[in-house]
Amino acid sequence: MKKIIITIDGWSACGKSTLAKQLAKALDYVYIDSGAMYRAVTLYFLRNHVDWTNLKEVNKALKNINLRFIFNPVSKATEIYLNEENVEYVIRDLVVAEKVSEVAAIKEVRDFAVKQQRKMGKDKGIVMDGRDIGTVVFPKAELKIFMTADNTVRVERRFKELVEKNPNITIEEVKANLEMRDYIDSHRKVSPLKQAEDAIILDNTNLTEREQFKKAMELVKERL
Ligand code: C5P
Repeated sequence: MKKIIITIDGWSACGKSTLAKQLAKALDYVYIDSGAMYRAVTLYFLRNHVDWTNLKEVNKALKNINLRFIFNPVSKATEIYLNEENVEYVIRDLVVAEKVSEVAAIKEVRDFAVKQQRKMGKDKGIVMDGRDIGTVVFPKAELKIFMTADNTVRVERRFKELVEKNPNITIEEVKANLEMRDYIDSHRKVSPLKQAEDAIILDNTNLTEREQFKKAMELVKERL
């Protein structure tokens, strides 16, 4: 059966990874969370006190970073490993989220990530979510989805996720983080977040997970 590349870009916390996982599972495709790569690089920089305003330090540090995605049969999704350590959980921390957009705006960091992302898509049969997947990583992807949702809904959804891990977190902190990341991600010089011209907009403000999946599957079937 024909295999395609599906890209899902959009604002922070609007359900990209939920949809990407649903599609990958239904189609038996690989799911790659490109944001996890930027988060893992940021985690490495923070842990190793890398000054990311200094390009020499950045290049040196990137040479010591090995990222891999491994399928976890229990969670039924791929998880990210940073130098052989599973960091899928720790990269979701607000400490990482506070810095990731700064790190992701560095050209050298993006080149490092994009090179690996393109390799992962060379045999197609992949769903990748992020900010520049349909515009830069796979500009010829067969299906591009651009996701969006109402701000309040996004903040509430992300707050619910984060407060389970950290009961001290406040909704204001989450709101400020999403706003800051969306601003930096859409205003940076290299590969800013924007809708690809041929992307289909999916606003899931009033959609259940099942409904959004159904809509996306219809688009997939058209492409197959
Ligand atoms: O998708 P997630 O919210 O985990 O991404 C974390 C951050 O990584 C984003 O806010 C953005 O700064 C960066 N990112 C990016 N390009 C991608 C995916 C994520 O710049 N393709």
